[in-house]
Amino acid sequence: MTGEANSWRWCASSEGSFSTKSAYALVKASRIIANQTSINKESIKQVWATPAPQKARVTSWRLLRNKLPTCDNLRKRNIQLGEEEAMCNACCQHYESTVHTFIECPKTEKVWTGIQNWLGISGPRPQDIAAHFDAFANLGRKRNRIFLRALWMCTTWILWKSRNESRFEGRPWKIENLIRDIKVRVWSWNKVFKLLDWNCNFSSWMTGDMFMF
Ligand SMILES: [Zn+2]
Repeated sequence: MTGEANSWRWCASSEGSFSTKSAYALVKASRIIANQTSINKESIKQVWATPAPQKARVTSWRLLRNKLPTCDNLRKRNIQLGEEEAMCNACCQHYESTVHTFIECPKTEKVWTGIQNWLGISGPRPQDIAAHFDAFANLGRKRNRIFLRALWMCTTWILWKSRNESRFEGRPWKIENLIRDIKVRVWSWNKVFKLLDWNCNFSSWMTGDMFMF
């Protein structure tokens, strides 16, 4: 055993010794974490304020609170999963986690890209769930923000539904089917909740040719 192993180390600096600079960095980092919590709270408020079916709102609410039973969350609850069970159903190459399922999975990324291409808008896709929701809502003009929030909720709801259908019913997880399903669902939401203040027919909706976000 070395002398170093038995001595106190200040973990906030690489040298292991206390400095005001490293203490300041630690406080700053904890404030960032605290701010992330408040961003979550704001996002959760926005979810409840967005006109959408209750099942989609509940899924988004659970997602933003990191309460969906994805494999990483099940492990946190000490639920043991086999190697195969813990894999992502969509790509079958990575372990499933909330961030992987909704953002990072290469197949999920293609769904988000497909949706952005449909709307004719591009923009950053942060790797944090609440930041992703916020960035998506701000992709277009301000007047379309409610629609974009609802679309994010619809997309994450469909992603979760497909994950469950694939995992528990053995249904194939297909990017094109998901994108089509999202477009059709959000079309019907728009009819009921008047998310947009302009109209277009169903075929133009599906192609997105008339969109101006
Ligand atoms: Zn995956």
